[in-house]
Amino acid sequence: MNAKPSALILGAGIMGLCSAWALNRAGWQVRVLDQAPIPNPRGASVDQHRLIRHAYGAQAGYMRMIDPAFKAWEMIWAALGARHYVETGVLALADHPGGWLAESRAALLADGHGCADLAAGDITARFPMLSGQGIADAFTLPRGGVLFADRIVAGLAAHLAAQGVVFEAAEVAAALSEKAAIRLTNGAERCADLLVLAAGPWGPKLAGAGLAGRVVASRQILVRLEAPPEFRAAWEAAPMLLDLAEDGGFYAVPPVGGTALKIGDHRFSRQGDAGADPREATKAEIEEILAFARPRLIDAGAYRVLGAAACYYDVEDREEFILEALAPRSFVMSGFSGHGFKFAPLLGLALAAAAEDTALARALPGWAAGRDAPAPGLLAGLESTT
Ligand SMILES: Cc1cc2nc3c(=O)[nH]c(=O)nc-3n(C[C@H](O)[C@H](O)[C@H](O)COP(=O)(O)OP(=O)(O)OC[C@H]3O[C@@H](n4cnc5c(N)ncnc54)[C@H](O)[C@@H]3O)c2cc1C
Repeated sequence: MNAKPSALILGAGIMGLCSAWALNRAGWQVRVLDQAPIPNPRGASVDQHRLIRHAYGAQAGYMRMIDPAFKAWEMIWAALGARHYVETGVLALADHPGGWLAESRAALLADGHGCADLAAGDITARFPMLSGQGIADAFTLPRGGVLFADRIVAGLAAHLAAQGVVFEAAEVAAALSEKAAIRLTNGAERCADLLVLAAGPWGPKLAGAGLAGRVVASRQILVRLEAPPEFRAAWEAAPMLLDLAEDGGFYAVPPVGGTALKIGDHRFSRQGDAGADPREATKAEIEEILAFARPRLIDAGAYRVLGAAACYYDVEDREEFILEALAPRSFVMSGFSGHGFKFAPLLGLALAAAAEDTALARALPGWAAGRDAPAPGLLAGLESTT
């Protein structure tokens, strides 16, 4: 009897775990290494929520990956026996015409996704906690929602352990991609038939990962709020709010499924160290986020700050994901900035397909960057969920 091929994965964030899930399903014996207990509270994947939505500005390639991403999540829910998702829909707002919102609308309509325009004067009637003042453009989308990130990461790690995936606590000093191996900080080496590097915002500093100069860690602030009593029910039934602009803007995640109302901004700080920096947000950092949100909120002064934290993105300049072979048996996953979580199961399935087929490995980077349609066979692991 042939032994199973072995895979070694660095990183037990959502990318490493979803790669482990897909490789395990495909018959690999998988070992996952992480420097921290899993879930790692300093990782990019561990927070109450992450958003999934079709609105993607001019990045139509990522918009087109959303439907397959939803299918891949269905496979995860089936594996976990739990559905860590609430559909909220989307409300996109902009205080100027054109830009991200108009690009999103054009791409959505061109691909047959129904989004409904909303006049500024109708915003408060529909969403009583929001002001329509200063709004130049708005639309709603019925699809999209909140993925409960911390529940997913913890559930997936437990599920994989039960499936025989081995987890090892170890800090990796360098990747030795030519031989599908890693060297630990204690000098020991581990090798396998396949190596996957999924180090999140630690990636740019990881020797041998090939990311220095291409990806940068970026400190991002999120703020948890308590809405005034008269607006709590409205927020609980609200869509995710996207008020994104080049020079500022913010997003809001409604308090669904027992989580808090959260706001954050999408500008990249492009600085910080995911390992060493304090995770408390400063007063100035909190104030900066609140300043974006205040003009949109009715009775903004009545909101209470429950807490705030710093989290780290791994930013690629064009916000394009990096999924590529470093050597015939080694892959790196990075550059997920503020939008990778929603795609993790889909990316894991594509990586597992590419690990067994050199033509698919060549096609992987262009698709993951949102530029190319998937090569035939790349998403063969997606099961029909209809
Ligand atoms: C505030 C914030 C909001 C976001 N919002 C969204 C959203 O709404 N929708 C969306 O789709 N995406 C969103 N994202 C992006 C998404 O969460 C990330 O892209 C994703 O979680 C990255 O996962 P990862 O597995 O690559 O990284 P991580 O979760 O950071 O995992 C990397 C793991 O590797 C380990 N590791 C690193 N280096 C070493 C080493 N040398 N030795 C051993 N172990 C090591 C770390 O300990 C860590 O556990 C957001 C991100 C942030 C920070």
